[in-house]
Amino acid sequence: MSPDTSIPIVATTRTAGVNCGSAHEARVAEPFPIARVVRDGDVTKFCQVTPDGYEIESVLIPMGARENTWHTLCVSSQIGCKRGCTFCQTAQMGLIRNLTADEIVGQVEAARGVLGATVRNVVFMGMGEPMDNLDAVIESITRLHHDPARQIPRRRITVSTVGRCDGIRRLAALRWRRLNLAVSLNAPNDTIRSQIMPINRVEPMAELRRAIAEYPVRAGGHVLIEYVLIRGLNDASEHARELAAYLRGLPTCVNLIPYNPRQNSPYDVPDEETVVAFQQVLMNAGQLAFRRNTKGRAAMAACGQLGTLAARRRQA
Ligand code: SF4
Repeated sequence: MSPDTSIPIVATTRTAGVNCGSAHEARVAEPFPIARVVRDGDVTKFCQVTPDGYEIESVLIPMGARENTWHTLCVSSQIGCKRGCTFCQTAQMGLIRNLTADEIVGQVEAARGVLGATVRNVVFMGMGEPMDNLDAVIESITRLHHDPARQIPRRRITVSTVGRCDGIRRLAALRWRRLNLAVSLNAPNDTIRSQIMPINRVEPMAELRRAIAEYPVRAGGHVLIEYVLIRGLNDASEHARELAAYLRGLPTCVNLIPYNPRQNSPYDVPDEETVVAFQQVLMNAGQLAFRRNTKGRAAMAACGQLGTLAARRRQA
């Protein structure tokens, strides 16, 4: 990991109406200053400081045949998160506050305007549960989609949820067929899922499955099922078979993510052979599945690693 790089940009957030040729009023959000940039290989985590003293963390992931051609930007929707998933760094902060639509769009502006990134995809997989801040998330998607200057259509945006069914249904009711949905599942059954994801005690997997089935996926598309593989907990072959049975009949693609340990984590990274075997069982069962290469782990920029305990302490 290279040392932190300070970017001497000072700006305040403002919004202003612009004529974008659309009935929808697009607005320009100037980004907050970037306090820190941490690089791990090609992955870049950057932190913007809000006027009330918190940090918004975002991650740039290089994409394209020759990497660095363009970027996927992982944005945060909240500072912290109240959902308490036991494997997740952000959960350690608790929820501090929601981000505004300006602050969400401002992450894209900062990535492009300050860091010079070519952002083509936006994924709501940073800090926070997007469905817990859905008004601002919907507004930010609307603005990104409608503003020709930003050119991030809904088909290039993914909202990832812990599995809040009313949020999935609210997004579905918008009839935005081309907005991508991802569900952070991480377990093949209620026993394991309730152990690591408290929401499952309220909204168990059968209810979640019904909500996924109702989501309007475009022809040939799928709902992305995120599955963090944790050694000895959810990574056995029988878990893969159980997962395949749960997903059978749903238009889904499983994204296998070898666990990225949070600070002081009680969990371990799975063996490489276990990851390969898990994927093979899924594919043998006819389930589309791929694995996400681990990027950004050293910079605490990998999936489930965002969030700083310092922010929590600053609030106290
Ligand atoms: S995994 Fe997502 S929903 Fe769960 S605590 Fe972390 S940020 Fe919140």
